[in-house]
Amino acid sequence: MSIPKAELHLHIEGTLEPELAFALAARNGVALPYADTDELREAYRFSDLQSFLNLYYGLMAVLRTEDDFADLTDAYLARAAAQGVRHAEIFFDPQAHISRGVGIGTVVAGLGRALDRSEAVHGVSTQLIMCFLRDESAESAMETLEAAKPHLGRIVGVGLDSAEVGHPPAKFREVYEAAAALGLRRVAHAGEEGPPAYITEALDVLGAERIDHGLRCLEDPELVARLVRDRVPLTLCPLSNVRLRAVDVLAEHPLPAMLDAGLLCTVNSDDPAYFGGYAEDNFRAVRAALGLSPERLRELARNSFLAAFLEHDEERRARYVAEVDAYEFP
Ligand SMILES: [Zn+2]
Repeated sequence: MSIPKAELHLHIEGTLEPELAFALAARNGVALPYADTDELREAYRFSDLQSFLNLYYGLMAVLRTEDDFADLTDAYLARAAAQGVRHAEIFFDPQAHISRGVGIGTVVAGLGRALDRSEAVHGVSTQLIMCFLRDESAESAMETLEAAKPHLGRIVGVGLDSAEVGHPPAKFREVYEAAAALGLRRVAHAGEEGPPAYITEALDVLGAERIDHGLRCLEDPELVARLVRDRVPLTLCPLSNVRLRAVDVLAEHPLPAMLDAGLLCTVNSDDPAYFGGYAEDNFRAVRAALGLSPERLRELARNSFLAAFLEHDEERRARYVAEVDAYEFP
């Protein structure tokens, strides 16, 4: 039994395993440029960001119908549940689908169908966060928010993802203001490959309530002090950091230093099909590579529920935290 945890940094498109990719390709008559799942799995061993992004966006071609998004989400939730995830706040990228002719209504309906039955089937409570692709224009982000309006009953917040450098948070000031006016929560990827100033900007200009990644905050002591003081959660993704070379090897990951500094860190899987592991895989990996004590792991699990958007159901949050506190490590 894995420690109970919330997953707060998970791109649903990044949970597409080779087997499901082939099954959906067959169902939709999409030709994949790989002979079989072995060859595709080999392609998942990319060595740099660009080959990852090419694969990632290329494979999305198999996601066409409501059923496809429902099956993808169901498969993730089953894996997450098996790894101790009790609550998941799931990112999706509407623009990556709209741009190839799949409307946001189809995406949200498919995701929603899986989320509706998640508690009953998997014992996992869920929320949905729509992300803007930061390498697309601010106008495109605003159009996406507009397109999402009929579906906001299903969407708790907005995020910002994809290639960070050269696309500072301030580019999206207006769409975040509009999202806030609609009552949406706000998160943003910042300080993964981009500089610490992007984290400060995400807080000041976008009103981000959580920072996704945020690794590079360590380069700015004043920023660290602010993040600690304001209890701003950071959603770290250790295995992702190694695969995308934000750190060279896991043993050099700054997670212990970040916890020692008093930062509210959480551990998540990002794009688990591509980065070598789901939530508990990340917990196990940091435990092994960084020698984290059981109490440190418990702190990470507790933090994940403290950082979750559960303000509408504090009773549930308290129940999850109690599960963490009662957990006995094997
Ligand atoms: Zn991410």
